[in-house]
Amino acid sequence: MSISDRRFVGEFAWALLDREAQDRIGAIAMEIAAARYVADVAVCDMAAHRAAVEACEKLGDDILLELAALDELDTNRLLEPNGTWRLPAGAGPLCRECGGEAPHRSRPTCDACAGVGRSPLMLGEAR
Ligand SMILES: [Zn+2]
Repeated sequence: MSISDRRFVGEFAWALLDREAQDRIGAIAMEIAAARYVADVAVCDMAAHRAAVEACEKLGDDILLELAALDELDTNRLLEPNGTWRLPAGAGPLCRECGGEAPHRSRPTCDACAGVGRSPLMLGEAR
């Protein structure tokens, strides 16, 4: 298993930033949301879709650079000593085997990985 039980909680990390850093990073996050919206909605407009997807990647990099410059994203804390990764809390319950959605909070794996249903990977191959 490569996914930690512990999560990265953005709300706590955000609270550690000073107001100027929150303003810069918040503005970039709003632009990512706008770009993501265009990427999702303008799927038939190849130029807009492509530009929006690329903007999401660039802006994500910009946030990482901002946080690195501030030394506010301790990436060492994202990898646990046991080799598992702390994923964002907002990702919801995740299967610790395949990384897909795990609808059962009482179990660390999805139905497929628990042997209850078909694997999401198998479902993707059927398309
Ligand atoms: Zn799974």
